[in-house]
Amino acid sequence: MKINVESIASGKIGEKFEHDFTYEMQSDMNRVVKGKLFVMKTNYGFNVRANCFTNLKHTCSRCLENFESPLEFSFSERFSKENHSTSESDMKDDFRIEVDGNIDVSRAIEQYLIIETPFNTVCSNDCKGLCQQCGANLNQGECSCTPRLSNPAWENLRDLWENKTKPV
Ligand SMILES: [Zn+2]
Ligand SMILES: [Zn+2]
Repeated sequence: MKINVESIASGKIGEKFEHDFTYEMQSDMNRVVKGKLFVMKTNYGFNVRANCFTNLKHTCSRCLENFESPLEFSFSERFSKENHSTSESDMKDDFRIEVDGNIDVSRAIEQYLIIETPFNTVCSNDCKGLCQQCGANLNQGECSCTPRLSNPAWENLRDLWENKTKPV
């Protein structure tokens, strides 16, 4: 997604503008990121601050149901010219200004989205998950399985425990 920066490119350092955007992800055509960019001219090129909003599609790691959740993230990045005069190490992490003089924020948005996406997701904090025995989704109600310790070696221990805790 290229942003036209002509309006401030020949202006003074510190000149800025805002730009609302809607970006369709290249890596995931079904996903759209919306937000606002704050672009400022600097001595090295441009600084871009972005506030982004999207809906993530997840699969719950407990009950395996699909669900969506909103995600907001923001970042600030430098876009510098190829012939930037400071040392190479200073600018190696910068994004580059395109040959036509505009800036392309796609890669920055995609990178930050990956960083911000949570790894382990549950549909809700009190998701009950699936029954270990029959696979029923316990959020939709109790199944008919009785909770049981799977390893018979523990059975004696359980009897002991149950006898011990019986009211006297
Ligand atoms: Zn769940
Ligand atoms: Zn069950």
